[in-house]
Amino acid sequence: MLSKAMSLSWPEQLLDILLPHRCQQCGMLVGQAHALCPDCWPKMHFIVPPYCAGCGLPFPHDYGSDDTLCARCLAESPPFSAARSAAVYDDESKALILRFKHGDQLYLAPAFASWMHRAAPEWFTPGSMIIPVPLHRTRIFMRRYNQAALLARALAKLSGQICALDGLVRHRRTPSQGAMNREQRLKNVTGAFRVHSRWQEKIKDRDVILVDDVLTTGATASVCAKTLMRAGARDVKVLTLMRVA
Ligand SMILES: [Zn+2]
Ligand SMILES: [Zn+2]
Repeated sequence: MLSKAMSLSWPEQLLDILLPHRCQQCGMLVGQAHALCPDCWPKMHFIVPPYCAGCGLPFPHDYGSDDTLCARCLAESPPFSAARSAAVYDDESKALILRFKHGDQLYLAPAFASWMHRAAPEWFTPGSMIIPVPLHRTRIFMRRYNQAALLARALAKLSGQICALDGLVRHRRTPSQGAMNREQRLKNVTGAFRVHSRWQEKIKDRDVILVDDVLTTGATASVCAKTLMRAGARDVKVLTLMRVA
């Protein structure tokens, strides 16, 4: 059941600040803004150790060491030094992210950012730079906003770190990757990104936190990380709200 708060226009949302807070998932009354109720909270699969030290893939068992890698990271180390996600992308969390992505529920961004920050608080060191995975401008025109940019901005506000909203530019429009496997995705996005000239100097020797909504095969994150490293970033880590497990 969706609450009325889920379909409010912005003036109504403003009024809603004065009204009781509701669960982001089901609409039940809760004590805090941007919270989930006690029924919905346990259904979200927040990612906690053990997970792959490289890509953050949750492990079913603890292998006794913090630097255990999954089979894919062992076979080929990713171009980013680590990836973390707040929650598993499954039927429960999907509804929440789809409302954010296509339903204009933009006020979810601060809550999502706090979940993401909790997944890797040690990454937000002074001088680190937050950069969102960009959409091509024609897709922004259709969707009106880039959800990764909203998450990046909310993370910057929360952590006090610099955010380069247009640090990466998608200069080639790429077909939607829904039905593609990892190889096809890699081919699809290779060469699609560049660092914006405005940030070329500032990115040098910087620890970058690359932000996106969902990590699927990691192909887009890998190509973005390579682009940032080639531009002189010291290190790239990937932080997403959710990931496929
Ligand atoms: Zn709920
Ligand atoms: Zn891995």
